Amino acid sequence: MSHHYSNKMVVRCADDRYSPGREFAGPFEQFLIDHGAKDCFLQVDFGGSLGITKEFNYEAWLDRVESAKALGINEVIFVDHMACGKFTLEFGELTADEEHARHTTCLHAAQRFFQEHAPEFKVSTYLQTGDNWDRFDQIV
Ligand SMILES: [Zn+2]
Repeated sequence: MSHHYSNKMVVRCADDRYSPGREFAGPFEQFLIDHGAKDCFLQVDFGGSLGITKEFNYEAWLDRVESAKALGINEVIFVDHMACGKFTLEFGELTADEEHARHTTCLHAAQRFFQEHAPEFKVSTYLQTGDNWDRFDQIV
């Protein structure tokens, strides 16, 4: 059915700090290695999990889920990050606690979307943070 090998899709923010050599890049690559996802399908959107909470993205995400199933994917990993510019655009200036709460809400919405539309998928959700951006807190 497919010439692909990875069964994993990773969803993260489009932030330019993930570009090669920038501050998110090394920690994120290590995260992928640690989670057996160095070889993965990558889905990038402003704000990471924020996108899946948007009504206008509903159909697009249904299509992504169907594509993922057809490509043999059965695991999805969402990675949001703190100090996210899209969250500031969306919600205004936030304290760290407020931003953490917003990410948690969006990551939970992502979990619910998959529970509803692809309950066979393993879903895990993380928030990238820390002084060196090398901490990935699992959000359950
Ligand atoms: Zn971001």
